[in-house]
Amino acid sequence: MPFTLEPSYDDNPRLQELVTDLRRYLHEELIPYEHERGITAESKLDRPTLEHVWKRSHELGFYGISLPAELGGQGLNLVELCALKEELTASGAALSHSVLGDMGGPLRAGSIVKYATEYQLERYLLPVIRGERACCFSITEEDAGSDVRRMTTTATPDGDSYVLTGKKVFSSAAPFADFAIVVARTAPAPEATDEEVYSAFLVDLDSPGCSVLDGEVPMSGQQMEGDLVFDGCRVPAANLLGEIGQGLRIGIGRITLNRLLHCPSLIGAARRAWDLSVAYSRNRVAFGRPLLALQAIQHKLAEMATDVYAARSTVLATAARADRGVNIAVEANMCKLLTAESCFRVADQAVQIHGKAGLTRGNEVEQIFRTLRMFRVVTGTSEIHKNAIAKSLS
Ligand SMILES: Cc1cc2nc3c(=O)[nH]c(=O)nc-3n(C[C@H](O)[C@H](O)[C@H](O)COP(=O)(O)OP(=O)(O)OC[C@H]3O[C@@H](n4cnc5c(N)ncnc54)[C@H](O)[C@@H]3O)c2cc1C
Repeated sequence: MPFTLEPSYDDNPRLQELVTDLRRYLHEELIPYEHERGITAESKLDRPTLEHVWKRSHELGFYGISLPAELGGQGLNLVELCALKEELTASGAALSHSVLGDMGGPLRAGSIVKYATEYQLERYLLPVIRGERACCFSITEEDAGSDVRRMTTTATPDGDSYVLTGKKVFSSAAPFADFAIVVARTAPAPEATDEEVYSAFLVDLDSPGCSVLDGEVPMSGQQMEGDLVFDGCRVPAANLLGEIGQGLRIGIGRITLNRLLHCPSLIGAARRAWDLSVAYSRNRVAFGRPLLALQAIQHKLAEMATDVYAARSTVLATAARADRGVNIAVEANMCKLLTAESCFRVADQAVQIHGKAGLTRGNEVEQIFRTLRMFRVVTGTSEIHKNAIAKSLS
């Protein structure tokens, strides 16, 4: 039996069934849907196309699947969620980011659900879980990236609302979102610590004084980022998430979990690059024999498979610890650092094996290479992860 990076979950029949169903949906429905419409990873996506995926995914039970049953999910644990997320990117589907709701859906809202009031759940989060509304998360500003505390967007109390002024950049899903989770500066209580001057708000993106601009197109070519401009935008006090001063805790708590949950997406993309490289080296002939017969190529494939296996093993072990209630704040940084660096290495080797084909626009490994390159920066740069790990040592 030849080795494959495609995992099976024989020890967990429920998960195995979900993975099988998800693979079927991706390969038999979603990818044909993309082909019929000429959708690629770099297409500008319109709302009806995305809504079709959200609704179908909700119908099949995938959208919001990790949420508890009372919120419409199936209460998947993190290990199970990681397993499903890997399948999405491993399929190569361009719209895979919308199947479990990474892009605008329940996974983008993430752990903020636990801070939401009844009103916020009804008006904002449950419609997201049903695939009817979409959200984005906005903390980054032009001059405040890794150092989010430099943010200058303010939320000033005025009667029973807050008035937002400032600009957020690089909010994924903003171009098609209905509302944003925005972290802004609020006036601190007299005894507030430095951390407590930030608060989080749910902001309707069609509010007067709020505009959504097309964001920069990142090197992946995906057109899903937007900038939010607040010019005296009034947000009802009922839209404050948690309490005043909890903004960074809410925002960064969400980011910590997302750091872990981004890992299986990168692993899936690296697995796809490995699969494509095995297939390519089997068929491509050089000097009278397939590339796969060359030891130099075999070694690359062996290193790539080892990188994917090591990253997956580490991420699943960490997810299992988190499922047991262990605080994984440091380990999440380790996982993201290890995964982003090793999966990018895999993509680089895949491009090398593909030669000029791998350097050509339109070739899938070239697109994977550009996408995986971004994740050494996105949701925390590798340097910031190292800082967090090092800080925990002292
Ligand atoms: C495609 C994409 C999607 C994104 N989606 C979102 C989103 O949905 N919501 C959102 O709010 N943001 C989003 N971002 C922003 C992203 O999280 C930031 O780009 C990231 O946090 C890094 O910030 P920066 O780009 O400003 O880099 P900087 O913080 O300016 O860093 C520049 C360089 O300096 C290094 N550096 C900075 N400080 C230190 C330090 N103390 N020690 C060592 N090295 C350091 C960094 O590691 C990096 O190499 C997105 C970005 C991209 C590209």
